[in-house]
Formats: sequence, structure tokens, C-alpha cells
Amino acid sequence: MTAPVKKNDRLIVHIEDLTHDGAGVAKVDGYPLFIQGGLPNESAEVHVVKTLKNYGFAKIVDIKESSPDRVEAPCPIFDQCGGCQLQHLSYEGQLKWKQNMVENVMKRIGKIDVPVLPVKGMQDPWHYRNKAQIPFGVDGDVPIAGFYKTKSHHIVDTNRCLIQGEEADAILMGLKPKLWSLGLTPYDEISQRGILRHVVVRKARTTNEVMVVLVTKGRKLKEKEAIIKAIIELIPNVKSIMHNINSQDTNVIFGNDTLLLWGKEVIEDYIGDVRFEISARSFYQVNPIQTEVLYEQALDYAALTGKETVIDAYCGIGTISLFMAKKAKMVMGVEIVPQAIADAKRNAEINHLTNTFFEAGPAEEVIPRWYKEGKTADVLMVDPPRKGCDEALLTTIIEQKPRKVVYVSCNPATLARDLRILEDGGYKTQQVQPVDMFPHTAHCEVVAWLELV
Ligand code: SAH
Repeated sequence: MTAPVKKNDRLIVHIEDLTHDGAGVAKVDGYPLFIQGGLPNESAEVHVVKTLKNYGFAKIVDIKESSPDRVEAPCPIFDQCGGCQLQHLSYEGQLKWKQNMVENVMKRIGKIDVPVLPVKGMQDPWHYRNKAQIPFGVDGDVPIAGFYKTKSHHIVDTNRCLIQGEEADAILMGLKPKLWSLGLTPYDEISQRGILRHVVVRKARTTNEVMVVLVTKGRKLKEKEAIIKAIIELIPNVKSIMHNINSQDTNVIFGNDTLLLWGKEVIEDYIGDVRFEISARSFYQVNPIQTEVLYEQALDYAALTGKETVIDAYCGIGTISLFMAKKAKMVMGVEIVPQAIADAKRNAEINHLTNTFFEAGPAEEVIPRWYKEGKTADVLMVDPPRKGCDEALLTTIIEQKPRKVVYVSCNPATLARDLRILEDGGYKTQQVQPVDMFPHTAHCEVVAWLELV
């Protein structure tokens, strides 16, 4: 395709859609132009900044016709920070767009005509995250901390975040001015000098317990007692202060060593009535309120009576498995990360859920083997990463025919692709329920329910 526009062209376009990064999409003779900040149903004068073979990028010069759902983004650094993409769209508008997007993807990619229910959103879609990972750095010799700019490692300095909890603000506001006196000079990625790289703050919503993890370049903390005292003053409900050492020249936040500085090594939280112990490195869903909504939906579709055996593929630390174990005869979870499986086993133990079984390995290898060993399931749960289910797993499902499949997905496009395969293999998608786990971002979580027909 030759681009019908070239760099520095100015033209008026009609924006039709949003990308999964939240950029507006307009088509010029079928050629997509991505326009940051543009919303569906808007007309705008744009300036073309870059053209590639199959798509290009443009900037808004002037909005000629504004979307009725456009709002002023409440966060002052919304335009620079990479954390949120949709604050300029009203929350109702976001939910409407997400439902539409899922519906379109089901039709276009999945060729499935299935009811997509209105997105289950949050009553209060702010301050929902239970984990903040705050990078520290320097601008000249001024310490800065906040969030990364979109697709970069440039820190946007801030003292407040509207989607994090108040504990993150306390660290942003309270720790920055004290860094020098605490001996925690901020780390500079370019010169590789300084000590403090990140502060990670996690909060357990149901118990209010907080964990603070300091990630530093070296092992030595000169003012240990003063650091502990300062953190307790900033966050009175802190129950655990950990120290992680990351001496590598890397983008990864954590290093391999995690030491206890003060308090407990884990904080405790509940999802429904299942208790979880969360350590500095464990994976845990970041929106606890919507996690319950999502799992309740999956449980509702599973319609367990207590007699069923459930396989939970891609089970992580066993959150869905344990949630279902109270209602099922047996739950078997499989997950590729061995540490997550160790956490799942431990979580089963502390909840006295003896009707569970966990194995580490690729779902597409472990589940076919289970079937050969006679370990079969009535209900198969899958919750794969963005790339969707492995084809070998879908083949196993089609061959083994569990009567019900509940598919939790963080990527509607791969979900639709996989549903098509399952439908061709004898399943029928009954209902699709999107759940808004990440308000103000373009992400959308979806639960789909399939029955063997
Ligand atoms: N169900 C969990 C986690 C879902 S995230 C929860 O709700 O918390 C998806 C998980 O799939 C991750 O934990 C990832 O490590 C795991 N994973 C990725 N590829 C896998 C594979 N081939 N087999 C099994 N697990 C896999």
C-alpha cells in the first residue's frame, strides 16, 4: 500500500476507533493514521508526523468536532505519563467503547454472534491499584520520582497518582525530600551512580496491611534505622519493609536478593474468603475489587455444585483455583512458573483446601498427560497471557471434550481467535462478559462461557 499522505501534510480526518494503546484511529482511503489524544466520533485537523508502508502517525492541531464523551483529564501529567491512556474519555464512554470493541472483535476475528454484556465497571474508578512501582532518579541534581513516560524510561516527576492508593502518594511526597539525609541517593540510569532505584508499595485491601520494598543498587544501607523510622512515619499501617538488591544494568525492577528490613516477610489479603500471603515478588492481581467481580463471574459460569472436577490452566498462584475449590469436588491447577506453583500450594495449605492439586509446567503438555493418566475435568478454566491459548491445548480440549469451558482473557483479539477454534471443535459460546480491571487504560478483561453442544 502506498501512503495517501506524507509527512507534514495537514488534513481533516474523522476518528473512528481507538487502538489497544488508546490512540485514535482515522482512515484516509483505507490507510490508518494513529492520532494520540483523538477519540472516536471526533473530527480533527491533524499534522502527519510519520508515515510507514501500512500506517502512519499524526498529531492533533485542532479538534473540529468534539466527542460528547470527551472530558478534561483530571491528572495534570496525563499527557506525559504512560500509566493511563483514556482519562480524556468519560468513564461511561470508556465502558461503552470497551463493550463495542469486544463485540466487534468477536464478530470480525471470531465470526461469532454472541451476546456481549455491558462491561462490569467500578463504582469509583480511581485509586484502585494495590501495587505501585515507583522509579527514583535525578534531573540534574534534583531527585525525581513518579512514573515512566509512554514507552520510555524517562521519569515523569509527580507527587500524586489518581489510580494508585494513598500510600504511593505518601512515598512520592514524603520520601523524596528526605532521600539525602537517609543516605538513599537516587540512582541515575545513565551514569549508573546512586543507590535507590525503585520503591514498590503493595497494600492488602481487606486487611489494610502495607509492604514497602526498597530496591537499591548496592547491599549497604547506611541509615537503616532512620529509613525504617521515616517509612513508618509516612505509612503508619506498614507491616513489612523489605530490601531488594538489583546491581545489574537492567530495565527489570527486582534483583534476585530480597532481605527483610523490618516487620513481616509477607502481608495478608483476602479474595472472597480465601486468604493469600503476598511476598515482595509474588504475582497478585492489581485491582482487588474487580478481581472479585471477575472471579465471581467465572464461578457463576462454572455453575459448580460440589460434584465437579475443575482444571485451572494458567493458574498463576492459584487464585481462581482456590476460589473455585470451595465449590468443587477437586481443582487441578497448572502454571509454567514454578515459584507461582509453590505459592499456590502454600495458599491451598493456609486455607485448608485439601481438594486441590498443582503442577508446574506448560499447560499444553501437562493437561494432555493428565488426560492420559485419567485425570479428567468437567469444567476447564483457562486464563492465558495476552497471546492466548497454545494450539496444542485447544486441540486437547476439543479431543477430551470437558462439558464446559470458562475462558478468562486479557486480550479480546486472541480470545476471539481461540473461541472460533473451540466453536469449530464442537463448543458454543453462550455469553461474553467484559470486566473493567483497569479503568482509564485501554485494557479490557473478558470472561467467556462455552458449552459442548
Ligand atoms: N489465573 C491467574 C494468572 C493468570 S496470568 C490469576 O488470575 O491470577 C497467566 C499465567 O499464565 C501467568 O501466571 C503465566 O506465568 C502463565 N503461563 C504462561 N504460559 C504458560 C503455559 N504455556 N502454561 C502454563 N502457564 C503459562
